Amino acid sequence: MKCALVTGGSRGIGRAVCIKMASAGYHVLINYKGNEAAARETLEAVQAAGSTGELLAFNVGDAAEVQQVLGGWVEQHKEDQIEVLVNNAGIREDSLMFWMNEGQWSNVLNISLNGFFNVTKQVINSMLMKRYGRIINMVSLSGIKGLPGQTNYSAAKAGVIGATKALAQEVAKRGVTVNAIAPGFIRTDMTAELNEKELAAQVPMNRFGTPEEVAETVAFLASKGAGYITGEVININGGLHT
Ligand code: NAP
Repeated sequence: MKCALVTGGSRGIGRAVCIKMASAGYHVLINYKGNEAAARETLEAVQAAGSTGELLAFNVGDAAEVQQVLGGWVEQHKEDQIEVLVNNAGIREDSLMFWMNEGQWSNVLNISLNGFFNVTKQVINSMLMKRYGRIINMVSLSGIKGLPGQTNYSAAKAGVIGATKALAQEVAKRGVTVNAIAPGFIRTDMTAELNEKELAAQVPMNRFGTPEEVAETVAFLASKGAGYITGEVININGGLHT
């Protein structure tokens, strides 16, 4: 069984990616943190797209839990290969630095940056052994440009961009590519409370993007045809340049 693991697959961009991976014929491992009802809806959509999937609940920021749940899955599925890993789970806890507390700083860093480490560690060895793999990290415009009120989030995403570029060079010879996607404003729960009308006016395309538009690029980077692209960061932001 060829599998695609999508962290934060229960909602938003992650859900659209799960559906796209299902259309590409992958058995989809749908990770989520706590929203089981939403994860089940994703699973139904994966099945409606003609493939199979399963739910894997773990907090990407909790190394022991990732080891237990994902490491356990890998151990029990020696015949099944996770060919595609999409490190998508992320949160934002915006605050100006003046008011930011240690919890806001470390929560955001822990889920995006340590989450990347915890999850990738569990799947990279088998990709290297099989000499094939696609790792796609969901970063952000904020990690390239830096956005006020997001020193935690910008730092976390910039950290993942650095890790993407370093790991890409480590594993290139083994047929494993590592790339990142940097969305601008995408309409999901994460952006639900933003003033869309006001912010969209700053975007040359005059609108927020959709999760499906991001998933298209994930599918391309996950495809065999993208095999010579690695260490890249692809912006998807409607022309909102950095
Ligand atoms: P979203 O709608 O808020 O969904 C977040 C997803 O991440 C949910 O599936 C959630 O699971 C999961 N999640 C959160 N914390 C987790 C944890 N500790 N362990 C495992 N799963 C966790 O977010 P989104 O807008 O789709 O964003 C997806 C990614 O794109 C994030 O990395 C985000 O930073 C990035 N991004 C988004 C935008 C945007 O405009 N939306 C722009 C740039 C980058 P539960 O359902 O269980 O809570």
